Amino acid sequence: MRGKTGIWVIAAMAGMALFHGAAAVAAQDQDFSKVQIKATKVSGNIYMLEGAGGNIAASIGEDGIVIVDDQYAPLAEKIQAALKNLGITDKPVRFVINTHYHGDHTGGNEPFSNAGSTVIAQDNVRKRLESGGTAGNGGSVKMGVKPASKATLPIITFEHDVTVHLNGEDIRALHFPAGHTDGDSIIFFPKNNVVHMGDDFVRYGFPFIDVASGGSVQGMIAAMEKASAQLPADVKVIPGHGALSNLDDVRAFVKMLKETSAVVQQALDEHKTLDQMKKDKILAPWEKFSGSFINTDAFIETLYNSLTGHKGEFMKHN
Ligand SMILES: [Zn+2]
Repeated sequence: MRGKTGIWVIAAMAGMALFHGAAAVAAQDQDFSKVQIKATKVSGNIYMLEGAGGNIAASIGEDGIVIVDDQYAPLAEKIQAALKNLGITDKPVRFVINTHYHGDHTGGNEPFSNAGSTVIAQDNVRKRLESGGTAGNGGSVKMGVKPASKATLPIITFEHDVTVHLNGEDIRALHFPAGHTDGDSIIFFPKNNVVHMGDDFVRYGFPFIDVASGGSVQGMIAAMEKASAQLPADVKVIPGHGALSNLDDVRAFVKMLKETSAVVQQALDEHKTLDQMKKDKILAPWEKFSGSFINTDAFIETLYNSLTGHKGEFMKHN
């Protein structure tokens, strides 16, 4: 599960990316025709959809449908069918809210836009989709991202927050800066007591932190702590990737982020080089979080670059 999810994340950018490293193979091999969309009721009129790529949250009701994130373009029809098959409404997906710009969360923007949905996202999501650039941890994990098509770009953007008033709920997207990327939003469904954390909270092990796109471990920790503090204890948490979770799961994740950051900071204070940190296996106690996408060495790089403000070399696109 952990490895598989990691590949989805990498595959995320497949359609628009120049790849570096072995992960490219996984992306090219991905066959969307075999992906099935599984819809699970989370609470009230909120559903979670899993297929390939990031988890989707859906508010389905009398006013129509609002979804958070939309996986990959080739899955858009299956996502539409899964929503319809729930038998709740024949009304369309009126709004798509993107938690951040990565292709495994925004890949469906174009087909959904073409079908009449309005895409909403934080300002930096549109900027990064429009310009393309480099995603990565500032070290060995690095993916080129091509500029997105016009139909992929969010039509409505916001700086700090936006609220969509549909299906009797004030669905609120709130920007948390410099976590997984610089354009992350956490989406709150207060009436149903559900939250979609985007990739600031994932269940596949050490998280990918897109340092090259303005992310940082400090921001990820701050986002999770700030968001958790304003949520009821029994809130249902949809992670960016992985199974439906609760606040205890979020706390365990934050604890790991804090402890590993402290270990790398300590090594920095001792003037250890990045190579020495890897050689000394300073994150060995957290080895169970090592995955096929972000292994322990890649996470040491992530923390090192986060804590030193190093964002890696940037790639240019034509
Ligand atoms: Zn992401």
